[in-house]
Amino acid sequence: VVVGGVRRQARSTRVTRAGSAGEELGRGVALHGTVWPGGDAEPYDGVVLVDADGRVAALGPASAVPVPAGVRSIGGPGCWVGPGVIDAHVHLAFGAAEAALRGGVVGVRDLGAPRRDALRWRTGHRPPPPGRPYIGVTGPILTAPGGYPSRSWGAAGFAAFAGTPAAARLVVRGLAGDGVDLVKIALEREVDGRWPMPPPVVVRAVVEAAHGAGLRVTAHALTVDAVVRAVDAEVDELAHTPTERLPEALVDRIASTGMPVVSTLQTFFSGGAGRAAAANAAALHRAGVPLVYGTDLGNAGTRPGVDPRELDRLADAGLGRRGALLAATVRAAQLPGVRGRTGRLTVGEPAALVLLAGDPMVEPGVWHRPLAVLCDGRLVEPVGPAPDTLDHTTRRRTPDELLGR
Ligand SMILES: [Zn+2]
Repeated sequence: VVVGGVRRQARSTRVTRAGSAGEELGRGVALHGTVWPGGDAEPYDGVVLVDADGRVAALGPASAVPVPAGVRSIGGPGCWVGPGVIDAHVHLAFGAAEAALRGGVVGVRDLGAPRRDALRWRTGHRPPPPGRPYIGVTGPILTAPGGYPSRSWGAAGFAAFAGTPAAARLVVRGLAGDGVDLVKIALEREVDGRWPMPPPVVVRAVVEAAHGAGLRVTAHALTVDAVVRAVDAEVDELAHTPTERLPEALVDRIASTGMPVVSTLQTFFSGGAGRAAAANAAALHRAGVPLVYGTDLGNAGTRPGVDPRELDRLADAGLGRRGALLAATVRAAQLPGVRGRTGRLTVGEPAALVLLAGDPMVEPGVWHRPLAVLCDGRLVEPVGPAPDTLDHTTRRRTPDELLGR
């Protein structure tokens, strides 16, 4: 499927083979195939011309976009060119950022990591290092002393404790001072009550302190009582589709706030709580709640890269395949904690796009192995077998497993 093409520079080729950082763009790259610019645009047969600096120089039907001499051409008939995906919920402590990028993910939000790791990964206003996606971070997850996830998968620095409103304000100000992109709070109670849940007054203090510092708050809330507590405190987002069936009135209440909900449906299916979550997702979508693509990378059954199963779960929730892709592109790009990505291909703006071997709206499985990922002025062409099987023998400890989810 690779057509035309000028010879690659030896040095760059070696970098690509050695790993994942990709190569610089030379005089530019022209990507041929079905072009979907994203958003409301309709796909068409054409070409996307990216200049040496990594900006979209032109896009349109081939007859309207002449490819200058010396510009490398990739793709061709049957290929698909469109915006790369943004995963709104990952844990890079349990999954590789480089592998995510090779799998078509051009931006992620890490929703829970030890402070030092998160600040090291964070992209902020700088361009990501070669071979890595944009990375927004929350740092450690706010919770009650001894609360989830500090006594399970998050024992090693993934939690920050807020036992009182004053402590909550102090911790949030500290995170804001560190430069996190978003604040995460966990509202989770173990069945026998061994894990305390932050009380309403503390959740409220977290939200007020975060808003005072210009940060939004995403909440881990899977049960009805946790969701009520989150909505009462005016959090800005739910980090998961809840797994306990929500009453219709609560669904409507969530919709009335306008808050987005990050899907993470596939991992719930892998863990056995998928059906209730899928029913909630459908109800939330019907009520007008914006669902956004997120995998909870690192959790049960996940793997780095765009997960066509998660897209299918979103499609099945009522979004359809186009809607699922919008949830993973333009809509995800608008979330708090995401910078420098629009989820569209726009002339004059930096390209963050993928070249796939087929149309993902017809064959979602083409996401398993993108032919190329172009963002931040570099072209990454994955080599080797498609990472389409999970290796359970080498998988590290994963979030929520101890909850049986
Ligand atoms: Zn998570």
